[in-house]
Amino acid sequence: MSPSPTLQIRQLSHVYPNGTRALDQIDLEIPRGMFGLLGPNGAGKSSLMRCLATLQIPSAGSIRFGDIDVLAEPERIRATLGYLPQDFGVYPRVSAIDMLDHLAVLKGIAARGERRETVQALLQQVNLWEVRKRPIAGFSGGMRQRFGIAQALIGNPRLIIVDEPTAGLDPEERNRFNNLLAEIGESVVVILSTHIVDDVTDLCSRMAILVNGRIVAHDTPGALIRSLEGRVWTRSVDKQELPEYRKQFEVIATRLRGGQTQIHVLADAAPDPRFEPVPGGLEDVYFATLYRERQAAGSPTQAA
Ligand code: ADP
Repeated sequence: MSPSPTLQIRQLSHVYPNGTRALDQIDLEIPRGMFGLLGPNGAGKSSLMRCLATLQIPSAGSIRFGDIDVLAEPERIRATLGYLPQDFGVYPRVSAIDMLDHLAVLKGIAARGERRETVQALLQQVNLWEVRKRPIAGFSGGMRQRFGIAQALIGNPRLIIVDEPTAGLDPEERNRFNNLLAEIGESVVVILSTHIVDDVTDLCSRMAILVNGRIVAHDTPGALIRSLEGRVWTRSVDKQELPEYRKQFEVIATRLRGGQTQIHVLADAAPDPRFEPVPGGLEDVYFATLYRERQAAGSPTQAA
């Protein structure tokens, strides 16, 4: 199989019938590998994922995947697309192996022998072979998500879209699921939509931040982290001092630590000698971006 082409999104906008502008002139180039789309709830992540998965027709713009014009030829992209929606819907009392076989029929693998091989290989890949005869309804959250990836991988897709896959998973399940994604991401385009910063840090070679339907940052995690180098400072303060600090400084995040409130402030130099520099991390990049966007929107500066 030739390497996956780049996904090109140009001037993509979507307005729902009630007037909500969920996507506002999105431009993105997404090459092979794991791409993280990070944004708070309501940012437009699912709207974008649904447009890419051809489940929703955007109001304007274009999407290309290699020589496929996604909006004009949805059936061509569907043949090479794997989609794990945020909510996989009802979980039937059908065994994992029967369900996957059924989904493989729907995806067009008609030959019984080929289907048996595909289903077996996928169940092994996502580590559900041992439990293949158990009903999916009884699976844990992590097992369901791994089943979701198995169904998304039917037919060797070259574009895989996963919408908030680790929400609700415990740390061990999340780790297992992420390792599986990382393996897949070596050869195809995988877009991971999430509000969990650590998922992007751990997995993604490129990323974008989506806020209010707009892309407000787009680079490698490393480059975004470097752009904040030496500009994030921390100190602990008493809770009642917090409003005053918010007034004086760009407080991008507050965190409770050992009963004390630790604040993170954006500034070119230490605001006062009690502040210490913070080594850069993606979480601060994300919080600083959200802070700036809220400021620009003129809303009260409630830090994360
Ligand atoms: P996210 O996935 O980042 O949480 P969504 O794409 O679900 O964001 O939502 C983006 C915006 O569009 C939100 O303001 C949401 O309320 C709105 N929205 C989502 N789906 C619909 C819909 N079917 N009709 C109207 N508004 C919607």
